[in-house]
Amino acid sequence: MANQGVLNAWLYGRPVECTEQQPDRAFHFILLGAPGVGKGTQAEYLSEKYGAVQLSTGDVFRAAKGSDQGVLSPAMQEAMEAMKAGRLVSDDTVVSMVRERTACLSSGYGFLLDGFPRTVEQAKALDEMLAGMNMTLDGVINYALDMEEVVKRLSGRRTCQQCKATAHVIFSPPKQEGVCDKCGGTLFQREDDKPESIRVRLQAYEESTAPLAQYYEAKGLLITITADGAPKAVFAETEKVIGKRFQLA
Ligand code: AMP
Repeated sequence: MANQGVLNAWLYGRPVECTEQQPDRAFHFILLGAPGVGKGTQAEYLSEKYGAVQLSTGDVFRAAKGSDQGVLSPAMQEAMEAMKAGRLVSDDTVVSMVRERTACLSSGYGFLLDGFPRTVEQAKALDEMLAGMNMTLDGVINYALDMEEVVKRLSGRRTCQQCKATAHVIFSPPKQEGVCDKCGGTLFQREDDKPESIRVRLQAYEESTAPLAQYYEAKGLLITITADGAPKAVFAETEKVIGKRFQLA
């Protein structure tokens, strides 16, 4: 199981606490793919199976949004505005936020970076951070999906206010409308899942993030997986591909 202490350190910028037994081998993966391809779900499955901690920069921003706005730095307040509009937060802000959390990257649990890096600039900064800790990446999993399908998935997505689980109004509707099946919390539509933000996010992805695939391809790290099946089928494919390549148990 992924360590909750590492996750809290990542989300809230606290010192890293490792309280659970660490896996024999820590995996270090980046998950790439447009918003809505299902990276987050795959990260959860991978985390459950291999113990690596899902580290999402979007989750850090959402956690900051829920905190007392008065204590946010000007850079963080600007980040909140960018996020609301579906724009990317500046590289400087994102990179310094991750730099403050490098202890999470080097924890014995390994990591699944979700939503970072998102630009080549951020990827270069990550390379530097990892080199500074004598660490290397195992691979970069790129989830590919047709853009029209992405829009359909995102606009119907609902997120639980409490446990962050997601449902979909068409593909996986909750048993009771507006109520999370997992914890009974309230389901809401993220501001950046509204149609006007979705368009901006997908454009930002095409412009800034897609070149990352080439960046990692050139390094021999890219593994592309078509993400158009059910989540479990996509996971089976993920395991097959990475298992073959990295001899995962
Ligand atoms: P996500 O949950 O990964 O889709 O992220 C939600 C929002 O947070 C994005 O639309 C951006 O506004 C912001 N964000 C998260 N990660 C990054 C990043 N690595 N670079 C720039 N902006 C980011």
